[in-house]
Amino acid sequence: MEIDPLSLTLEEMLRMDSHALHQLARKSAGSVTRYRALLGRLLLAITRTGAFLELGCSSAVHYGVAQLGLPSKEARRLLQVARQLEDLPYLRYLCDHGRIEWSKLREVVRVATADTEQDWADLCARRTYAEIEDLVSRSQRGEIPPDRPVRPGPRSELRCRFEPDQMAVLERGLQLMCQQLGRALPMAEAIELLFAEKLAEHSVDEEKLERVREEAIRDLGWLDVINAEAEACPANQQVEIVNPKSRVPTPLQRRKLLRRDRYCCAVPGCENSIWLDTHHVTFYAHGGLTVPENLITLCTRCHSNVHQGRLHIQGSAPHGLRFLNDRGRDVREERQLDVPYWLDIWCGWQGEEQDRRYRGPAGTLAAAS
Ligand SMILES: [Zn+2]
Repeated sequence: MEIDPLSLTLEEMLRMDSHALHQLARKSAGSVTRYRALLGRLLLAITRTGAFLELGCSSAVHYGVAQLGLPSKEARRLLQVARQLEDLPYLRYLCDHGRIEWSKLREVVRVATADTEQDWADLCARRTYAEIEDLVSRSQRGEIPPDRPVRPGPRSELRCRFEPDQMAVLERGLQLMCQQLGRALPMAEAIELLFAEKLAEHSVDEEKLERVREEAIRDLGWLDVINAEAEACPANQQVEIVNPKSRVPTPLQRRKLLRRDRYCCAVPGCENSIWLDTHHVTFYAHGGLTVPENLITLCTRCHSNVHQGRLHIQGSAPHGLRFLNDRGRDVREERQLDVPYWLDIWCGWQGEEQDRRYRGPAGTLAAAS
């Protein structure tokens, strides 16, 4: 008879001794690392096989957000760790055996290489998460980790709100800096670098800044709306009908549509905000009109999913829309999560005689008593 540790109740745990609780907590923490890595590998496989397309999504991250209910940052991070672990056999081994904490693992994979992963793993065993985070932030990829006392004093956090045109400049600028340096540059480092240049008298005047902005806006394409006339058009205001029979919306209609859809792809969970198209919910070829209720903003990926029959959009924009995958199920309702029956085997939890409660055949979840 096996016990499924996942269905232990708090009451049962309260009857366990401290050693048993500790063993179970250790194994649970190790399993969390292993399961996150597993989910990351699955997202990577979904990326590489292009399965996200058949699932009606624009990327594996979109799939993770729309159908697994993950925050996009988390989906991106899982994918990133899975990618980096491909070249890190020792860290992968530790992860598969639950011998490293997820929080430390996701930090060190950013800087570890096959030559330095052992050093980083040793540090993870000795240092706290905050110390590892600090050491990683001060290391370059491939560098031997600096095993010295962590920087004293608290870190500062800078929060700023940017208008879309300002953000376009920032993103384009950061991209250029990364290209010039041949590596990914964190925003904090980029800001530091820019101020350092400023202090070194490489001054940027207003006219230059304006030119940089214009170029960045041109680069991002859809941001031409920024230069549009400043007419008031709150997000909830309806887009006026100009000519419902015309195939394409007027530039003014398109600008208002982009505003209504918040300059982002309208498919739930998709966060693409560049390369945006205007789409007829009822296809123009099928008699769909060029009116606000029949128009939505889609990224090019989701747009091609629609036209290849992998994603079906029905209803009236912006609030009465349904997004269905090729099996006719709402992409937002496809997020029924599940747990594998084999977790207890992976956990290796045996329990004690007095903790045991009959749960049906090995590892299955019988109905609650
Ligand atoms: Zn999209």
